[in-house]
Amino acid sequence: MSDDRRAFFRALVRSDAGEPAAPPPEPAGLREEEIDRYSRQLVLPEWSEAAQLALREASVLIVGAGALGSPVAAYLAGAGVGRLGIVDSDAVELSNLHRQTLHFTPDLGAPKAESAAAKLRFLNPEIVVDPYPARFAPAMLEGADLVVDCSDSFATRYEVNAACCAAPTPLVEGGVLGLSGLVMSIRPGESACYRCAFPAPPPPGAASACAEAGVLGPAAGVIGSLQALEALKVLAELGGGLLGAFLQVELAGHAFVRVAVRRRPDCPDCGGA
Ligand SMILES: [Zn+2]
Repeated sequence: MSDDRRAFFRALVRSDAGEPAAPPPEPAGLREEEIDRYSRQLVLPEWSEAAQLALREASVLIVGAGALGSPVAAYLAGAGVGRLGIVDSDAVELSNLHRQTLHFTPDLGAPKAESAAAKLRFLNPEIVVDPYPARFAPAMLEGADLVVDCSDSFATRYEVNAACCAAPTPLVEGGVLGLSGLVMSIRPGESACYRCAFPAPPPPGAASACAEAGVLGPAAGVIGSLQALEALKVLAELGGGLLGAFLQVELAGHAFVRVAVRRRPDCPDCGGA
């Protein structure tokens, strides 16, 4: 970047960083390299140096490093989230590669959490990436400001929802199958949780998995990208997120339907929160 362009972005983030009257104390500002790296989001009217610094201070736990976790982790690493925890107990398989874009053919057999972490460190060496090659456990929420659930099983989804409600930790849920998907953001105690929206998992056999029903790579990419967008909205407090609602996405006909969801007072996960 030329000195002129750097000065332009520096002036821009300064002008956007707050009113002259009593700005709140904040950590040291962005370094020159960070202004270069994040210049295309810093220039957005919705973004600011304060938003960028909030991202730098944030810790996000991503559950699943597969079809949804790949775009989520790549976008959050690229955007400058300071710490990413990557949870996945599986190893990379050949049938993953058409949709799980953080893993390549030479990674076959490697733990997905490690394979993903290696690519994310290449993408952004400014951030810390902690791989957890294990199943999700509530103790992993320690220190997390946000969880993005990119798992592919209903059992894990309900387990993550319950743990986030108990913590409480904000959560972005997502799921994809075939050409359909769903995204939902949750602030426990304030907005409906995943179990408020879906009180019980589908009966065994009613919901097929990717292995039987199939999934197209770009469909997972759309849902994962929407989850990443929600995560940035939550972390930077941009507003306009999918709180108290979920987004049903039908990509065969390009239909996006926002469905409002109320909290259930008797919800076993968030009702007593
Ligand atoms: Zn609930």
